[in-house]
Amino acid sequence: MKEKIYTIPVNEAYDKDSECPLCELEKQLEYDAVKYALGPAMMEPDFRIESNEKGYCNRHFNQMFQAKNKLPLALVLETHLEELRKKVDSVEKTAKAAASQKSGLFGKGGADKSAAQISEVFKKVECECMVCKKTKATMERYIDVMLWMWANDEGFREKFDRSKGVCLRHFRELIENAPKSIKGDAGRFIAALVEKEKAELSRMQEDIHRFTLKFDYRNRDMEWGTAQDAPIRTIEKISGYITPYEDNENN
Ligand SMILES: [Zn+2]
Ligand SMILES: [Zn+2]
Repeated sequence: MKEKIYTIPVNEAYDKDSECPLCELEKQLEYDAVKYALGPAMMEPDFRIESNEKGYCNRHFNQMFQAKNKLPLALVLETHLEELRKKVDSVEKTAKAAASQKSGLFGKGGADKSAAQISEVFKKVECECMVCKKTKATMERYIDVMLWMWANDEGFREKFDRSKGVCLRHFRELIENAPKSIKGDAGRFIAALVEKEKAELSRMQEDIHRFTLKFDYRNRDMEWGTAQDAPIRTIEKISGYITPYEDNENN
């Protein structure tokens, strides 16, 4: 039996009517991680050291910026900026060396190596994020547990059959993880998920088409059916949820 701290949230996410129950789980984890970064993390020296070094991606800085109280964010930014300035300092020598390099034959610049070295340092800055790191680790557990539940829990499998599938990113992640998580049952799961996704994307196509038809004046009396929110649901199906961070607290 898998740990209840994982099976309960997976069951609850599948109880909701959603385009992707895994996105529902991820949304909550992301919310909690952002809230933690701007609250309790301020008192955790180890977390602060790591977050000063790694920082946050654009999506998560964006969510942190939605929080009403800007002081914790400013404190995070201040110490992170210090680390970033050290990184700029660290490439200064390479940059100066580039300035003294001559162009090669056929007008090719002599700064290729320096440019690549500097770019490497800042590529790392771009792809590190404390919220992404925390969320990813727990999502891996949820995906493993969800696959186990599909293979071992009849009640859950019925919920899966009634669900609207998942977004395309989670579709790929489930397929990637199935052989490792449910071994002998992986083939059956993959076939069932692909069938489900096929049916759900076809439903989506009908809805988005119906949405476009409503803009024709001849169709003004046509019922919306389930098409009224088709653009947002289609985006969420294709690329995951886009709900902004909501600061529910009056802080
Ligand atoms: Zn998803
Ligand atoms: Zn992130």
